[in-house]
Amino acid sequence: MSSNPKKSPPSRPREGGPGGLGPKDPIRPVVHALDAYKPGEQPQDKKYVKLNTNENPYPPAPRVLAAIHEAANADLRLYPDPVGNRLRDRAATVYGVAREQILVGNGSDELLTLIVRACVGANDAVVYPFPTYSLYDTLVTIQEGRPVHVPYGRDFTLPPDIAEQRGRVTFICHPNSPSGTAIPLDRLEALAASVAGLLVVDEAYVDFAEHSAMRLIDRFDNVLVLRTFSKSFSLAGMRIGLAFGPTALMEQIAKVKDSYNVNRLSLVAATAALEDYEWMQANVARIRATRERLSAELRGRGFEVLPSQANFILARRPGEVLEDLYLRIRDRGVLVRYFAIPELRDAMRISIGTEEETDTLLAAVDR
Ligand code: PMP
Repeated sequence: MSSNPKKSPPSRPREGGPGGLGPKDPIRPVVHALDAYKPGEQPQDKKYVKLNTNENPYPPAPRVLAAIHEAANADLRLYPDPVGNRLRDRAATVYGVAREQILVGNGSDELLTLIVRACVGANDAVVYPFPTYSLYDTLVTIQEGRPVHVPYGRDFTLPPDIAEQRGRVTFICHPNSPSGTAIPLDRLEALAASVAGLLVVDEAYVDFAEHSAMRLIDRFDNVLVLRTFSKSFSLAGMRIGLAFGPTALMEQIAKVKDSYNVNRLSLVAATAALEDYEWMQANVARIRATRERLSAELRGRGFEVLPSQANFILARRPGEVLEDLYLRIRDRGVLVRYFAIPELRDAMRISIGTEEETDTLLAAVDR
C-alpha cells in the first residue's frame, strides 16, 4: 500500500477579523467581546497555603477513595450511566425528592451552563443581585442574553427590586459569593412567588449555612436548587453537582447536556460521599468553628467581616484598596482571592482552611 501524505493547503494570509483570524474568522462577535471567566489561580510553581477557591481543607471520606479505586479497577472501558441513576437514587433518599427531580452535572458549573443554554435566548433578561458569582455574566453573555445586575448594598442584604426586573431567569447565590451572607428563607420564598420566570438558587455553599431553599421545590414549579460536591464533600477535583427541581423542567434541561456528561469515577465518588454524610458534617463543623475564629481575629485587626454562612469570609477595609495586601500575603505563600472590581477593591475573600493554615494566614497579615 502506498502512502499518500496529504498536502496541507497553502496558508491564507491573516488579515481582517477582530481577533486577527482573517476574513473568514469563524468566531462569533459575542465571543470576541467576551471577558472570559477567570477562575481563582491554581499555581503549580510552589506549594501555597491555598485559601482562594473555597476548596475543603479536609479529605473526602475513606469510602469515597475505596469506591473510586474499585470502579477504576473494574469498568473504565464502559461508558458511564448517562443520567447517573445510582447517584440520583441515593440523592433522592438523602434529600427527600424523586429521582426524576434530579439532574447530575459535571460540577454545578455545568448545570448552570445547561440551565442558561436551555432557558436563555438573545436579549432575554437574566437577573441577579451583584456582586455575586461572576460566571453568571459569562454564561448569559455567551447565550446573547442580557445580564441585569441589581446592586447589593454594603451589608449584602437582598435588594427589594429583583422581581420587578422580570427576568426570564433569576439567579440567587445562597449563601452569596463572595460575601458569604445568607438570605432569610421568607425572602427567598417571596422571590419564588413573585419572579416572572425561573428562580435558580445556587446553593454551592449551603452545607455551611443554617438553612436551605431546598424545600421550595416542593411548593413552586419555577424553582431550581443547585448543589455541589466540590465544597462540603471535599470533591472539587471530581467535578460533580446536582440540580433539584420540577420533573418537567429537568426533562427539558437534560436534553441540552452531553450524553455522558459525568464520568464513572465521579458518579461512584459522589454516591459514596452521600453514604457517609456524617463525614461531611464533621468537616463542616470544623470549618464553621475555624470560620468564627478567623472572623473574630480579623475583626480584632481592624477588618470589617460580614457574618458568613459559607466556607469563606469577605474581609474589608472600607476606603482602602487591598490589592497590595493581597500581593504581599501571596509573596508569603498564602493565596487569597482579590476581585479587581470597584465594589470589591476594599476586600479579600478568604477560604477557610485548617487551624494551622489560618495561623499562617494571620501571621502573613500581621507582617
Ligand atoms: N456556584 C458558586 C457560587 C460557586 O462559587 C462555584 C464554585 N466556583 C460553583 C457554583 C461551581 O462549583 P462546581 O462546578 O465545582 O460544582
